[in-house]
Amino acid sequence: MNDPTRKIRLLMELRRQGISDTAVLGAMERVPREAFVEKSFADQAYENIALPIMQGQTISQPYIVAYMTQALRPDPRVKVLEIGTGSGYQTAVLARLFRRVYTIERFRSLSETAAERLEQMKLRNITARTGDGYLGWPEQAPFARIIATAAAADIPETLIDQLDEGGILVLPVGERSDDQEILRVTKLPYDVRIERLIKVRFVPMVKGTVD
Ligand code: SAH
Repeated sequence: MNDPTRKIRLLMELRRQGISDTAVLGAMERVPREAFVEKSFADQAYENIALPIMQGQTISQPYIVAYMTQALRPDPRVKVLEIGTGSGYQTAVLARLFRRVYTIERFRSLSETAAERLEQMKLRNITARTGDGYLGWPEQAPFARIIATAAAADIPETLIDQLDEGGILVLPVGERSDDQEILRVTKLPYDVRIERLIKVRFVPMVKGTVD
């Protein structure tokens, strides 16, 4: 089966799985996932599965990318912070839906590869840097939206601090890899609202950077 056919099949599958936001489906259609996977996995780029990337990390399953993006309530007027650039695939999807994307990755090699790739795609509303996502991006805070694509044991307090009032944080949380769920955290004037969404399996969020 060729790429366009596979891609259409994947988009239909995402709809069946409950992705109904047409802007999200449009972004998923326009971002070439084959450009973000290792060459040896290129033939599986439009399968609805996570795939390995360098440094023992993974490019997330398309369904999970679409699901978290939809849960984040995309808004072309606001900026979003992403923790865990990885391949840059989720970053590219966000770039099509938000005014500007700030993305942080703890492995310098992954961060630099992703930044080059995104540059080549002429996605110019992205700022990428190597750093520890637990610290957020204080110089650019507050953010209307924050998404993390690595699982922390608890909701990092710093990320709540860097959220606008009314802002939304979507992230996987769980101590063990077989016991994680996606949370949507909405910042209220004196409190947060926490919604528990779906069970997932992500690589862990780890403190510190790797050069
Ligand atoms: N959205 C990415 C997912 C990559 S996996 C994609 O679809 O390709 C999650 C990434 O989070 C990994 O690359 C991992 O190195 C990174 N990560 C883990 N802990 C981090 C931290 N504290 N700060 C920044 N990045 C982190």
